[in-house]
Amino acid sequence: MLNKFVVPISATVISLTMLLSACSGAENGATPADASSASVVAVQAAFYPLEFLANEIGGDLIQVTALAAAGAEPHDMELTPVQVAELEKTSLIIYIQGFMPAVDEAIASQASANSLDLATAVPLLAASDANEGAYDPHIWLAPKNMILMATAVSDRLISLAPANKDYYTANTKTLISKLVALDSEFSNGLENCQQKTLVTSHDAFGYLTSAYGFQQLGIAGLSPESEPSPARLAQISKLVTDQGITTIYYETLVSPAIAETVAAETGSTTAVLDPIEGLAAGSTDTFITVMQANLKTLIKGQSCS
Ligand SMILES: [Zn+2]
Repeated sequence: MLNKFVVPISATVISLTMLLSACSGAENGATPADASSASVVAVQAAFYPLEFLANEIGGDLIQVTALAAAGAEPHDMELTPVQVAELEKTSLIIYIQGFMPAVDEAIASQASANSLDLATAVPLLAASDANEGAYDPHIWLAPKNMILMATAVSDRLISLAPANKDYYTANTKTLISKLVALDSEFSNGLENCQQKTLVTSHDAFGYLTSAYGFQQLGIAGLSPESEPSPARLAQISKLVTDQGITTIYYETLVSPAIAETVAAETGSTTAVLDPIEGLAAGSTDTFITVMQANLKTLIKGQSCS
């Protein structure tokens, strides 16, 4: 079966033989002759949501490696020299310019020809703070953006491996239907909410809040590592009290300390709203299931009916 999709892409492919031997051989019935002639496109994804897109679309006909390790907060991640060297050899690097400076830098100096910047695939929102870049890079947190990003990934994979077109196109169609359904769940679930302001640990949810009619109030800036000033904390606490906000959201991969400080000062509670910058190590969740958990959290935290 796989022979149908075989594409020779010179140095940019990994032999399927290697993959098959790595995962204990001929379970799928492929004979050694089949396997040695089949090829798979090697893709590097900067961090989890992009790895998710690549895997959903590329399926068995790509091999995806994520640059950010599971359980690590990717914003300020550094790349190892080995990772930088690998970038030159891969067929395709999928990233979002402005999200991980180390990746931007490595691509600019080593690998610009084989990269796909998904920030070019969606309408961008301005950064909340002009010091933090020209735009907000957290584009994956709105299902409609993910649909546009999926199409961009699919188009690029097809151009790298035209013989796989039908397979990639069918997978993309399935993925888009899941994302359309997710968008409807959000629209319906968040249609009638009493509280329209979302107080979050960092400004990750601009695309989500803009898509579903909320305002975001991030305690830190666009990066979770930036420390809010005492004046900023006081200002946020006052807003929380004045607007009757009951829930302060914090994140899975970042310390909840600041959110807990604001909650303690204002008598509100905290809840996890996951910006999906990475999955926890060993997690069996997917982008879709984490977004569904986020929706449930928001329906409760924003008093939606
Ligand atoms: Zn972030």
